[in-house]
Amino acid sequence: MAKAILECQFCGTLNSVDLAKHDQGPKCAECSKPFLVDRPIHLSETNFDKVIAGSEVPIIVDFYADWCGPCRAMAPMLDKIAHDRAGALLIAKVNTDRSPTLSKRYEIKSIPYFARFEKGEKVGDLIGAVDAAAFEKFAA
Ligand SMILES: [Zn+2]
Repeated sequence: MAKAILECQFCGTLNSVDLAKHDQGPKCAECSKPFLVDRPIHLSETNFDKVIAGSEVPIIVDFYADWCGPCRAMAPMLDKIAHDRAGALLIAKVNTDRSPTLSKRYEIKSIPYFARFEKGEKVGDLIGAVDAAAFEKFAA
């Protein structure tokens, strides 16, 4: 069992999903559309606390902005890790322009900023763009 609380990207309902069974195609209990757990999920001020607190697997949160070049440069690396580690790790993205309260809470002064959460607690962070080896070590 590797439970996570995920928001359905189609209808917005929060579901409890067993990531250990991610290859069996988990579906939303409300609208029956599939959860795509092998790619980054999007968090906002409305769902952040519930998703972070409800996950039994580590979550790496990418605090980014659309105008941030280094953030865009890191995106393919994040997609790859989300795919490679599906079921064991979640990659989440927070748009800092849309979620200023979260940026303030974690005292983010520059982006990209990555925070690692385990069992609802922040256990580490990484500031700025890094290469794949450094990021994989952080995400291990
Ligand atoms: Zn749904």
